[in-house]
Amino acid sequence: MSSEFLAALCEGRILASRCSKCGSCSLPPRQRCPECGAETGYMELPHRGRIITYSEIHVSSKAETPYVVAIAELGEARLPGVVRNARYEDIEIGDEVEVVIEKRAGENPPRCWYFFRLTKQKR
Ligand SMILES: [Zn+2]
Repeated sequence: MSSEFLAALCEGRILASRCSKCGSCSLPPRQRCPECGAETGYMELPHRGRIITYSEIHVSSKAETPYVVAIAELGEARLPGVVRNARYEDIEIGDEVEVVIEKRAGENPPRCWYFFRLTKQKR
C-alpha cells in the first residue's frame, strides 16, 4: 500500500484516487490513472461496504490459521482485508462489513492497519 494510503489510515480515512479525465477509481491511490494515464485527485471511501468475494486461508507463516480474507466494495472501490470476527461458514456474498482501523502496537512512529468486521449477527 502507498504511503499516502497509510498516512490517511492513521487519521481514520480510507483514501483512494479518482481520475480527472475518465473518472476511474484506484485503490491504493495513484498519481496517474492506470486506465488512461491522466492525473488523479484523492477521494475518501466510506467505512462500510459489502463483501463481493471471500476465501479461507489455511497456510501462513505470519498469522494463526485458518482466517478469512475478503474483498469488500466500498463505494466505487474494492478493498481486500481480513475478516476478524467471523468464520468462513458464517459469511455470505453481499454481507456488510465495517472497516476498523487500528494502530499497531509497539511501533514507533505508530503505524496503522485495518481489518473487516462483519456487521450482521450470527445466525
Ligand atoms: Zn483515467
